[in-house]
Amino acid sequence: MCSRRTSWYRPRGEATAIEVGEPVIEPYKEYSPLDPLGRCGVATACLGLETLPPEGERRGEIGHVHPTGWHMTCYDRNLVSGESLYNRTHLIAWCLSEELDNPQNLITGTQYLNQGSMQPLETRVVDYIRTSGNHVLYRVTPVFQGDELVARGVQVEARSVEDEGAGVSFNVYCYNVQPGVTIDYATGESHPDFLPSRTALTQKGYLADSARPLCATANESATPTAPSYIINFATQRFHLTTCKSVADIAARNQGACRLDRDMLKTLGYLPCDRCKP
Ligand SMILES: [Zn+2]
Repeated sequence: MCSRRTSWYRPRGEATAIEVGEPVIEPYKEYSPLDPLGRCGVATACLGLETLPPEGERRGEIGHVHPTGWHMTCYDRNLVSGESLYNRTHLIAWCLSEELDNPQNLITGTQYLNQGSMQPLETRVVDYIRTSGNHVLYRVTPVFQGDELVARGVQVEARSVEDEGAGVSFNVYCYNVQPGVTIDYATGESHPDFLPSRTALTQKGYLADSARPLCATANESATPTAPSYIINFATQRFHLTTCKSVADIAARNQGACRLDRDMLKTLGYLPCDRCKP
């Protein structure tokens, strides 16, 4: 039995409600409390002109929020445009809600998710609200598997209110992925899909002969066949041949490489923080 039936009962003497005009639609925003792992849950809102930031207003900083699984991971821009793999991703976008740095509304999302999949949906809703003045019911559900700290994706649902979905009606699952990058959703760590193995580099002739000394002399580095960098295959970083860290790399993990810096970064190797090649 539906509990709402009790509202049918009206005590004698109480004034009968008179309905006049359209029902008033009150905008709201609701966020789930973070779960014990600190993860966001479903976020729901009724969006309208009342919730949108003024046109031309710029979004403030959100860098102080660290959603679960957050890593500041940069890749070569040929692999991830904009270089940073992750964005602090609003469940309900700032451009819809003016919700800036609420931790209950921010997840670790790939650039592909944030800018590639979610932003076009958000733009559709903003445009609809601005042109119609109507309201949109909006719900975003982050989908986590087990105890993983990074969401596998988000489900975004929207339906315009006054015209009963004629203007906006969608239910889209957006995958939290980044083409070319493999993500460990348990931790947020990641690596490029196509980081070539030592064997592959050797087969292509990119690695110097193993008989050559790895630390090149000044003379050697001046010749075109000299190794340009030393790769550490364990850390997936590359070093100047003169870097002091090279001496610490186990022989089985190092390779003297003839590729140039840009090619190494494109392949997914990162420059050493010490020698900054
Ligand atoms: Zn180095």
